[in-house]
Amino acid sequence: MNKSETRLIDDNGLRVDGRKLDELRPIKMEVGMLEKADGSAYIEQGKNRVIAAVYGPREAHPKHIALPDRAVIKCRYHMAPFSVEERKSPAPSRRELELSKVIREALEASIVSELYPRTSIDIFIEVLQSDGGSRCAGINAASLALADAGVPLREIVAACAATKIDGKIALDPSDIEDKQGEADLPVAFTPKSNAVTLIQMDGSLTEEEFNQALDMAIGACRKINEMQIEALKRKYVAVKEQAEESREATA
Ligand code: ADP
Repeated sequence: MNKSETRLIDDNGLRVDGRKLDELRPIKMEVGMLEKADGSAYIEQGKNRVIAAVYGPREAHPKHIALPDRAVIKCRYHMAPFSVEERKSPAPSRRELELSKVIREALEASIVSELYPRTSIDIFIEVLQSDGGSRCAGINAASLALADAGVPLREIVAACAATKIDGKIALDPSDIEDKQGEADLPVAFTPKSNAVTLIQMDGSLTEEEFNQALDMAIGACRKINEMQIEALKRKYVAVKEQAEESREATA
């Protein structure tokens, strides 16, 4: 370990933020808080603050991008200039372009796009504050925003990363763990079809460590998927209550 680096696991086996190795950061999710988009969602995963908005299915623009047999899925992952310690240029970086592509691919597998030929579905992910694992938080929010927009999905996609810190495999790395960790393994997963829709890896892991990290990330995706479904249900309970209140008010 470099002398300037902090120990990431203490003598009690706890991490810098007090978590156990297999513990997720606290997660909060809210669905449908933007009025003007067709669908929206907000997620807090640790100190990550991410908003996702969806438009569509709507007529593809420009027309030449339209596909005869399915909707075109477009995705933009963007980090706000104030989302990191030192102001980031608002212009899209190579990293953001790459993440936009892999996030689109992670979500595309679950969208029933063949129901909407010649249309486009646009997904916007804005990272308001980043803390490691923002692509996973972005996927979690975008999947909810798609459901909120009424886009037919085979399943809600959930994502979480695993890492290796101080020689041990750990779940859901925060920024410092992401930067000082020996590996980063972001995974997106759909539980019913048991499919991994995104897997990337930085750093190095033995085969055994890789399998342990993958199992840990998939287990976390299953938990996050349950939270996503609960967040969607909460929105519809709130809509139902509002409808009942306005019916009572007009009665
Ligand atoms: P992810 O956020 O999905 O883990 P990376 O591994 O590329 O993606 O980034 C890890 C973390 O590094 C980010 O969550 C963010 O906190 C930080 N980071 C990424 N890009 C920048 C940047 N341009 N300036 C400062 N910090 C950044």
